[in-house]
Amino acid sequence: MMYGMKKVRTRIAPSPTGDPHVGTAYMAIYNYLFAKHFGGDFLLRVEDTDQSRSAPEYEANIYKAIEWLGIDWDEGPNRGGPFGPYRQSERTEIYREFAEKLIKEGHAYRCFATAQELEEMRLVLRQQGKRQGYDRRYRNLSEAEVKKRLDEGQPYVVRLKIPLTGNCEFNDGIKGPISFPWQDVDDQILLKSDGFPTYHLANVVDDHLMEITHVIRGEEWISSTPKHVHLYNCFGWEAPEFYHMPLLLGSDGKKLSKRKNPTSVFYYRDSGFLKDAFVNFLTLMGYSREGEENEVYSLETLIKEFDPARLRKSGAIFDVRKLEWLNQQYLINNIPQERLWDEIKGWAFSDEKMRKLIPLVQSRIKTFPEFFELCDFMFRTNIGLSEELLTPKSLTVESSALLLQQMLADFEAFTDWDREMFESTSKSIAERFGVNHKKVVMPIFFATITGKHTGPPLFDSCAILGRDIVRARFLAAINILGGISHKNQKRLEEARARNDFASLIAKKGATV
Ligand code: GLU
Repeated sequence: MMYGMKKVRTRIAPSPTGDPHVGTAYMAIYNYLFAKHFGGDFLLRVEDTDQSRSAPEYEANIYKAIEWLGIDWDEGPNRGGPFGPYRQSERTEIYREFAEKLIKEGHAYRCFATAQELEEMRLVLRQQGKRQGYDRRYRNLSEAEVKKRLDEGQPYVVRLKIPLTGNCEFNDGIKGPISFPWQDVDDQILLKSDGFPTYHLANVVDDHLMEITHVIRGEEWISSTPKHVHLYNCFGWEAPEFYHMPLLLGSDGKKLSKRKNPTSVFYYRDSGFLKDAFVNFLTLMGYSREGEENEVYSLETLIKEFDPARLRKSGAIFDVRKLEWLNQQYLINNIPQERLWDEIKGWAFSDEKMRKLIPLVQSRIKTFPEFFELCDFMFRTNIGLSEELLTPKSLTVESSALLLQQMLADFEAFTDWDREMFESTSKSIAERFGVNHKKVVMPIFFATITGKHTGPPLFDSCAILGRDIVRARFLAAINILGGISHKNQKRLEEARARNDFASLIAKKGATV
């Protein structure tokens, strides 16, 4: 089936800069639904132009996460296809050519501003109460002046000439007509001084070259869309149709954040949710099935029934209790008993996991049941945390919470959460907080992960549980300890700035 004249082609374009986010899964599902309903293609394009933040491990995890959901993409870096390469870092030559074309045709220009110049500009513009951060001083340089600077080898970026007056008008498939005053838009950098494109240039060039017909993405990108619309005009290309989906919100109504809730797809997989239930759950968000009682349905049903007019403008609440309810519905009604056993086996006792766990327990058990007594925390979500367990005798509850908060922040600085990282971070926390590693940090850390003070070697256990579960347990423990108040958040920030954490430690009975 065709949608209009062209074959429908949608894509997700994740940047591999972190754990596979539930928001990426959510967008993948909607782009997939859209394409498959209209008999079109769904692509995966890797937007890895931010070289300092992109990592191959993150890219591999995106594939793993989407594969786990059972969503298949027709073209992509690891699938190939007629419009490749599908990884932006392999397409930089293409973007440079298009940037040159824009310069030649008067739509873009070279800007030679130094970092210092930009900083000064920002200050002046702010004082004048302007919203922009760049005063367009290189927009009208003469050709001779440009040539002179190029001959001198001055570094430059390429900027887009944004119209100086009027509004950008475009239609959003969900929100309707949108009007954006050009006044509020800066001359966007298209090509950085290292020759790499910014998101805006690469995204537009690729969506055009890859013949994307519908761009379905999160609402956070809507303020970029005027720049994209302008770029399509400058190139003389037809723009795709835009659909900006409501952002996933936590039950507090705020944007999902990994500082508060697990946001990695792997967390939900590793916490024992069925992929069918998880996919179903994500489709409940951002889509209205008004008039239909049933909230449990398969992806196939939704592909058949999908109607873009039903995409919602707001209200995508990511409520884990709803997910649990849905998962239970699947367990009761949709999963035959043999499959349930297979699912539990696969989740709990995978060979991969057991190969790592067994060596840790072999010399520590007398009989098989002791395996479960020792390792129960590997198979449970509720590990029975309590304030008492988490607070060593010598510390206040508040200090324990701050110590855990800083420890988690330290973990976040690493890409690999392996045994060595857990060990060295835990020791360095003890040193910096000026407390005993064995007597203070280890008991808190142990309890956070296992709900007990004994068990198999802790750092290895953390590595087996993985980043997402470890992070979630830290958040849960901090929560049990009463969370971090605004005041304590400030104290923590000050301690970081001074690199002096000892002041955060209050011994019991002492006043802060
Ligand atoms: N690279 C962007 C992201 O990380 C793509 C946004 C878009 O879909 O245009 O989500």
